[in-house]
Amino acid sequence: MLSFVTAALLLTVFILLTRKSPEPPAEPEATAEPEEPEEFTADHSIYNTELKSVGGIPVIHTHVPWDSPRRPGEVREIRYLTIHETDNRSSGADAEAHNSLLVKDTSNSTGWHYTVDDHSIYHNIPDNEISWNAGDNRARLGGNMNGIGIEMCVNLTNDYEQTLRNTAMLAAELLVTYDLHAEDVRLHQDFMDKICPHRLISEGRVEMFYQMIRDDYTELLKQEVRDTIKRGNGNE
Ligand SMILES: [Zn+2]
Repeated sequence: MLSFVTAALLLTVFILLTRKSPEPPAEPEATAEPEEPEEFTADHSIYNTELKSVGGIPVIHTHVPWDSPRRPGEVREIRYLTIHETDNRSSGADAEAHNSLLVKDTSNSTGWHYTVDDHSIYHNIPDNEISWNAGDNRARLGGNMNGIGIEMCVNLTNDYEQTLRNTAMLAAELLVTYDLHAEDVRLHQDFMDKICPHRLISEGRVEMFYQMIRDDYTELLKQEVRDTIKRGNGNE
């Protein structure tokens, strides 16, 4: 009898521990679950691991464990890039530290796909999976369901200007990879009532940042054309 009670208790604890917690309450209203995009295949292997570096900045692929509440693991269609800032100015709060937090801390469900600082880019969650970063719950065509969340580090020991350049290059790469356009880059603020990315907005540099992305995107497309021509010539 005692062992049955113990077993039942253990089972309850196990269920409680392994349950994925829902996204923390966020500002805008949640809408009904979006319809499954017709053309999108549920392939969990898509991870963009071929991306080794961006403009000489290494891309480090260490992902949040499958059983973490930070990784819901639901496959979706990619429609946007969502730009954030960590708002963490502590010394040492760089991309590696934030990646480590995402990977190890299972105390809440907040997550995002990339973290960028002045010398590295961490890839935290596969691009084709949803993550809870935009604060719009399951809004149809919203930031959580359809955006790739990118966090820019703002810590005091970090070169913010270089971080902007690295993020713009990463954004351009992702736009090309997923056949998106420059106007598909959004700010966290576009999905909920929160001033994020805070420094970029408060310094009035959003348009300048978008222009950086447009320039990098255009350059990548030109490079693709040059590569195609080169390959064509090589075949002659
Ligand atoms: Zn944000």
